[in-house]
Order: sequence, then C-alpha cells, then structure tokens
Amino acid sequence: MAVIGQTTDGKRNWVYAARVSGRFQKLHRWSGRALMAILILVPWINIGGQPLARLDLPGRRLYALGQTFTPQDAIFIVLMLLFGAFSLFFFTSLFGRIWCGYACPQTVFLEEIIRPIERLFQGDRGRRMKLDQKKWSPEWIARKGGSYLAYLVVAVVVSMFLMGFFEDPRNLWTGSATTGAYGGVAFMAFFWFWDFAWFREQFCNYLCPYARFQGALTDDQSLNVMYRVQLAEPRGNKKERKQHPEQDYGLCIDCDKCVTVCPAGIDIRDGFQLECISCGRCVDACEGVANKMSLPEPLIAYTSLAAEEGRKKSHLRPRTVVYAGLLSAILAAFIGLMGSRHDLSVTLNRVPGTLYQVDEDGWVRNTFFLQVTNNHAGEAEGPAAVSVQVVGLDGAVIVAPPVSVAATESVKVPVAIRVPPSAANARTIPFQLELESDFDRVTVDGTFKSGAVEVN
Ligand code: SF4
Ligand code: SF4
Repeated sequence: MAVIGQTTDGKRNWVYAARVSGRFQKLHRWSGRALMAILILVPWINIGGQPLARLDLPGRRLYALGQTFTPQDAIFIVLMLLFGAFSLFFFTSLFGRIWCGYACPQTVFLEEIIRPIERLFQGDRGRRMKLDQKKWSPEWIARKGGSYLAYLVVAVVVSMFLMGFFEDPRNLWTGSATTGAYGGVAFMAFFWFWDFAWFREQFCNYLCPYARFQGALTDDQSLNVMYRVQLAEPRGNKKERKQHPEQDYGLCIDCDKCVTVCPAGIDIRDGFQLECISCGRCVDACEGVANKMSLPEPLIAYTSLAAEEGRKKSHLRPRTVVYAGLLSAILAAFIGLMGSRHDLSVTLNRVPGTLYQVDEDGWVRNTFFLQVTNNHAGEAEGPAAVSVQVVGLDGAVIVAPPVSVAATESVKVPVAIRVPPSAANARTIPFQLELESDFDRVTVDGTFKSGAVEVN
C-alpha cells in the first residue's frame, strides 16, 4: 500500500497537507512569530558597541551578549555549544520533539510562510491535488510559477536575515557587504528555495541528524504525539458500523482527518514513527472531530507511554536529573570563567627552538612571543596602548616594540628579556609580565632560562 510522503517503487508521494486550526496551531503560530522576530531583530541590536549575536568568520570572532570571543576563548565557545546540546537533550527527554514541531527554522518557515503562500496560489488540498493532475496546463504553469517565484523571494529574504548573524546587516542591506557575504546569501537562498519548492519533509526524514538520535533521548515518560489505541480501536466509519452492528467499535470513526493534515505524510495511528515532528496538527484535527462528534475525548494527544498505561507521571527521572545537573554545571562554569575574564587576554610562549642566549656584553637573553587580545568593547576609543613590565627578575630589561591593539583585535609581538649576569643565577627563574592599558591590568607567568650552574 502506498504511504503518503514515502517512496513507492522509488517514486516520491507528494504530501498535500490539508489546512487545520486548533490550539496547537495557535501555539505554533505564536512561537513561529517570536522566532521570526528574533531572526529579524537580533542582528541589528548592539550592546556596548558589540553585536548581540554574530559569528564573524573572516575575523575569527564570536560576539555574544555584548562580549567578544576569539580563538583564545575556545573554552567559552565549547561551553556554549555544550549548553545548547544538553538543553536540547533535556527538553527532548521531557517534551519529546518539541524543537522539531515548534522551533526548528525548517518547520517554522514551511508552516508559517510557505504553506500559506502555496494555498494562496494553488488553493486547498483538493484543488492542489487536482491541479497536479493537469501538469503543464496553462493554469498549472501560472499557479506553480507564481508560487515558485514567491518561494524564491522568501528564500532570498530569509537568507539575508540569516546572514545578519555573520555580517553586519547595515552593510548587507545597503549593498556594502563583502562579495563573500553575498555569496553566502546566494548559497543559503538556493538551499531554502530547493527546500521550500521540493525537498520539504524529506529534509527531516533523510538529512536531519536530530531525528535519527532523538529516540535515544526519550523514554516512556517523555511527551509525544500518540494515538490512544485503547480508546480508539477497533476503528470503523459510519458505513462499517452500520454493516457490523455486532462489532464492539472503538471511538475512531476512521475519518482520516489526522492523516490528511500531517505535513510528514504519515498515519499516526500506525504507532510512533521517526518521521513524526510532533507538530500537533493531527491532535488539532482529531480534537476538531471529537468536538463535532461529541466524542468524550480526542483520540490523539500529547501524552506519554507511562500516562497511557496508567502509570505515575514523573519529570524527575535519572536522565532528566543528569541533564539538569550537567546544564547547571556548565552554566556555573561559564559564569565563573566570565567573572574572572579580563578585557586583555595574554599568552606568552617561548620562541620555538630557543632556550637562552648570552649577548656580547655578558647579559643573558630569552626570547618569547607575546600575544595580546583586546576584548574591550570600546571600538570608538581606537587602538589601546598596552605597557609591558617584567617583575621577579632583578635588573631585567625588556626589548619589545610598542604594543597597541584595537578593540576585538589580537596582536603577536616578539619580546626579548635581558638579564644582567649577576641576576642570572639559576637555570630556571620564574617571572611575571605585567601588562597595563587604560581599562585593564593583567599578569602572565613565564620562566627565564640561563646557563647558571646550580649549587645545592
Ligand atoms: S503525526 Fe501528527 S504530530 Fe506527527 S508530524 Fe504528523 S501531524 Fe505532526
Ligand atoms: S482524526 Fe481522530 S477520529 Fe479521525 S481518523 Fe484520526 S484518530 Fe480517528
């Protein structure tokens, strides 16, 4: 039997999802609007002169919440990624695929923008099915062409907004961004157009990795969209019920409404399926039927296996506790590290292959590379002059070019430390470099090497 949305003999069955309304569709609409507002507005917002959220790939910088992170801050970036991943795990273990149904850009764009456009140009489910039977007719070309043109416009606009998370939108929308940025927009627009016009639910079924492993993140207490077999089966439509009055039918009247509205092209009555994105359209459809037919309860609901089997609901389960604990630990580590983070971050590394050198005047010289990063947000203040002093080496002299570093920039300078023979009295002497700018003062540890013979 052909299954909607699945391939039969290698041929794809197009999903003609019918329109549905209900409380979960309202929720979907509001979550979609909120996410689109974030997409449109966030790239324009600056905090303390820095973007609220932007990944500057050519500059190798991440701007987040008014802070600038460079490759030296890899630990913060790792913590942010871990927090995102464990948040997804945590919410999936509690609420199933809520991300897919209500927050994934693929679902939001498709359900809130593309399907309304499709309905506008091609009509409701029945009309769309009829239209596709008249392929290459003038009407088919006009209606399909109109909707494809609209998808293309949406794909370009969506890509421009998305690129705002990688490039300043003021440059993007005024035509003064880099060629690379517009190339990125073109690439994203191509992807979105292909997705809107053709690929659609196949993305979730075949490309999205989350769909593959979400089964491992849920258990019998996780919330999922379920067909309530006990109440609904055996199903039977009006005709069947008339023909077999002796049969003890369940509440499902086999109206197929839950199937025709499904954007994944599946029949939830066949049980849990990987293709289900938990969008709740079938729940709304069945709630509508239940209201109309005065059924005591809808037959499809957001529920858990445990609840359906009459077991006690529990949010406190080993996996949710572990995820919550890990999230708290990651957050605490992030806040702690941010609290001790300086506006100037510094690393000092010995020049590879060098240990020490004795100059002609007998002074001992060690050479290092000093890397200074300016995380201070004051871009308008211009480059910051940074003074460098050595502490812990008697009579030491620093030979280094002046250090000046612009906001969010990083500079690497060679630094030579010269120590008089009288002070170079041990093979290894610990010291510190003190760096000071108008806005910060930091120290970095180092060790000075000499050829002194140590006497115990
Ligand atoms: S089965 Fe229901 S919840 Fe799952 S994708 Fe289809 S309509 Fe959405
Ligand atoms: S919408 Fe409800 S009543 Fe209709 S077929 Fe689906 S489960 Fe049965």
